[in-house]
Amino acid sequence: MISFTTVNDLSAYIREIKPTKTIGFVPTMGALHQGHISLIKQSKKLCEITICSIFVNPTQFNNPSDLENYPRLLENDMKLLLENGCDVLFHPNVAQIYPDGLLKNEEDYGQVVRVFEGLHRPGHFDGVITVVASLFDIVKPNKSFFGQKDYQQCMVVAELIKRKFPQIELNICPILREESGLALSSRNLRLNETEKISALLIYKALNHIKVNYSPKDLRKLIEEAKQIIATSSLLSIEYLDIVNANNLEPIGNSITKVVALAAVHCGDVRLIDNILLN
Ligand code: AMP
Repeated sequence: MISFTTVNDLSAYIREIKPTKTIGFVPTMGALHQGHISLIKQSKKLCEITICSIFVNPTQFNNPSDLENYPRLLENDMKLLLENGCDVLFHPNVAQIYPDGLLKNEEDYGQVVRVFEGLHRPGHFDGVITVVASLFDIVKPNKSFFGQKDYQQCMVVAELIKRKFPQIELNICPILREESGLALSSRNLRLNETEKISALLIYKALNHIKVNYSPKDLRKLIEEAKQIIATSSLLSIEYLDIVNANNLEPIGNSITKVVALAAVHCGDVRLIDNILLN
């Protein structure tokens, strides 16, 4: 595996390989787990060269302590990437990605950035849009790989690709979970054993919705799911809802793809999860 830390060095490498090789790109913030690795594996399946970036992007954190406490485990990450056949790692510092300071997207991305994560983490998606656009410009991939775990982020990236990078293919990969159902997340590292047991209730609640889903009883189902989460005093719900999976709007009477989305605080760790219902 080749490692790059500067845009210049990576760009020179890309110029060399780009004419002949299909490039797959997996952007991450590190503290890698098997969820990230599943994206690497999918990229390796579909592309000749797989590039993974590890960059904890300051502009997407609306909470300074969340940014400060975000796990950084570069050595372990490099080992995992190497073991799984990743070809290139790009791990720049902040100045490489933000040479002109921490500016972020000011373009209006519409409803999709205003609800759920966008509402509860103001400016979050502008940071995501900025960093993904900048990484796309640098890496120039043919295909990009994102996880359904960040469902709304996938929708925002789809819009970014539609507007600015129509040549890049978006591949959305399924959520990897522990056997218990807990969605793998770098933030799980910050949960103690008791918190981890409580966090299982998030999947239990979403799965309750999936198993009992009927478009008629949405309010009742949401209430029941919230009650499952409320059985632990360690959990507090930021949002839990069932919406149109294509635009995150209320379902109404339309026959459409439907998703249940949740953000729940477990102790001082904020966890998100989702499940497609049909
Ligand atoms: P992050 O490092 O949290 O920014 O995640 C980098 C990429 O890995 C994003 O596209 C995530 O959606 C994806 N990802 C994170 N957790 C999982 C998971 N449990 N299963 C599949 N993909 C994931």
